[in-house]
Amino acid sequence: MSKHLSVDVRVPVEEDNPSIKRIESLCIQCGKCQEVCRKEISVGHHYDLSKTMDTAICIHCGQCVNVCPTGALVEKQDWMKVHDVIQSHSKKVIAITSPSVRVGLGDAFGLEAGSYVEKKMVSALRELGVDVVFDTTFAADLTIMEEASELIDRITNNKPLPQFTSCCPAWVKFVETYYPSLLPNISSSKSPISMMAPTIKTWYAKRENIDPKDIYLVAITPCTAKKFEITRSEMKDASLYHDDEAYPDCDIVVTTKELANWMKAENLDLEKLEDSEYDSLMPRGSGAGLIFGNTGGVMEAAVRTAYFMLTEKQPPENLLEMKEIRGLEGIREASVTINDLTVNVAIVYGTENVRKFLPLLKEKHYDFVEVMTCPKGCISGGGQPKHIGEDMNEIQKKRVDSIYQKDASMKLRCSHDNPAIHQVYKEFYDLPLSELSKKLLHTTYHVRDDLNEDPSIYDTVCETEEVIPTSTRYKCSICGYIYEGDLALEKDDFVCPICGVGKDLFEKC
Ligand code: SF4
Repeated sequence: MSKHLSVDVRVPVEEDNPSIKRIESLCIQCGKCQEVCRKEISVGHHYDLSKTMDTAICIHCGQCVNVCPTGALVEKQDWMKVHDVIQSHSKKVIAITSPSVRVGLGDAFGLEAGSYVEKKMVSALRELGVDVVFDTTFAADLTIMEEASELIDRITNNKPLPQFTSCCPAWVKFVETYYPSLLPNISSSKSPISMMAPTIKTWYAKRENIDPKDIYLVAITPCTAKKFEITRSEMKDASLYHDDEAYPDCDIVVTTKELANWMKAENLDLEKLEDSEYDSLMPRGSGAGLIFGNTGGVMEAAVRTAYFMLTEKQPPENLLEMKEIRGLEGIREASVTINDLTVNVAIVYGTENVRKFLPLLKEKHYDFVEVMTCPKGCISGGGQPKHIGEDMNEIQKKRVDSIYQKDASMKLRCSHDNPAIHQVYKEFYDLPLSELSKKLLHTTYHVRDDLNEDPSIYDTVCETEEVIPTSTRYKCSICGYIYEGDLALEKDDFVCPICGVGKDLFEKC
C-alpha cells in the first residue's frame, strides 16, 4: 500500500522534503494543491509514483502551499532555529534579504499589497537579534556580472545557446529531472544567495577576522525552493576554499511568512518600527539587482550589463525599461541589438509554460532565456504571504509595480556601476569568470534519476498524455472535501467527514 494518501487528489509530500510539509489534520482534500502542481508547475502528472519507489517528485516551489485554503500545506518552519542560535550567542548571525521580501512582508501586517517596507524589514531583523544585515540585491549584481560575462563568452566562443538562467532552484531541479539534455545550456552562474553565501564566508570573514564556522548565515527569501538549494552538495564552496571539512555556504532559509511569524511571536509590529539601513559592506544593490524579484527582471538586468560590457557605453533609456519584455504573460520575447549583434531573448514563468516554450527552440534561435517557476516571478514565491479568496493577479501586479517603481527612482540602475561590486572584484575576485570566481560563484548541475526511467522521454513531453486519475471523485458542495471511490457503495448515513453534510450534497468531479 502506498504511504501517500489520496494522490489523485493531493500532492504527495515526503517527510524529508526540506521545503514543505503537510499537517494531515487540516487537509480537507480539496485538490487545489494537485491542480496547481499539474496545471502550472507540470510535475504532478508527469511521473508515475509507483515507478519512483513511492517517492514523490517535488521541485519545492511551494505553489501548493500558496493555494492551500486551510494551511494544511506549509513551508517548514525554520525560524525557531535562528531564534535559538541568537539566544545561545554562539555565532555571529548574518541575515541577507531577497528583493521580493520587502514587497511581501507588509501584507502579513495588514498593509496594502506591494507596500515597500525595506527599512522596516531591516529594522525588524535587528530587533530580532540579528548581528549584521546585508542585502541579497548586492549579490544579484554579482550574479549579473558573472552571468552577462558568461553569455558574452557563450555567444563569442560558440558555446551552447540559449543560455538559460539558473537562479531559480525549482527550475534547475525541473531540468535535472525532466530535461537533462538541457543541462549544458543552464548558466553556471549561481543564484544571488549562493554567490553571497560563500562570499560572506570567505572575503567578509577574512576582512572581519572571523572563523567562517562562527558565522550563521540566514537567507530571508520569498522562496521555499531555496530551502532545498542550500542543502545541495554543490553549495559548500567556502569550506572547499578553506580546505576544511564540508559545511554549507548558507546555513538556513527563512521565508517572508516565517519572518512575519517570528516577528509576531516577538510582538513586533512592522509599522511601529524605526527605519534602519543595511550594513555597509554589502548594502542594497542596483535597481538591476532589485528587479530580480519580477518575471523578466534577471533578463533585463543582464541586458543592461551585457550592453555595457560589449559597447563600454551606458545602456540607453529603452534598455532601462524594456517595455517589450515587461508584462505578465507566461511567455514573452524580444530582440536586442547591441553593436552589430542581435540577441534574441525570452522570458518564461511557470514550468508548464516551459513545456510549451521548448518546442519553439526548434524553430527559432534564442540566445538567452529566463525561467522562473512561480507566477510572475519570485514576488509570488511559495514563502510569500497568502491571499486565499482574493484576486492574486491584482496582488502580484502590485508587488511587481512596487519593485519597478523603486528601480525607476534609483540613481544606481546597473549592476556594473555598483561601487560595492567594484570593491569585491578589486579586493577578492579580480574579474568576472576569473579562476576564483569560477570556484566560488559558478557551479554545475547533474542528471537526476528520481523518475526511475529514461528522462529523454520527457524531451518530447509536450506530446505526453496527462495521466488521468483512476478512481472516481466526488466533491462536497459545501466544504470542497474530495471523496475518492464509488459513493453509491457508501451507506445512506454517510456524511462528509469535514462538514457533516449527507452524500446527496456531493457532486461528481
Ligand atoms: Fe523560488 Fe523565485 Fe523560483 Fe519561485 S520563481 S521557486 S520564488 S526562485
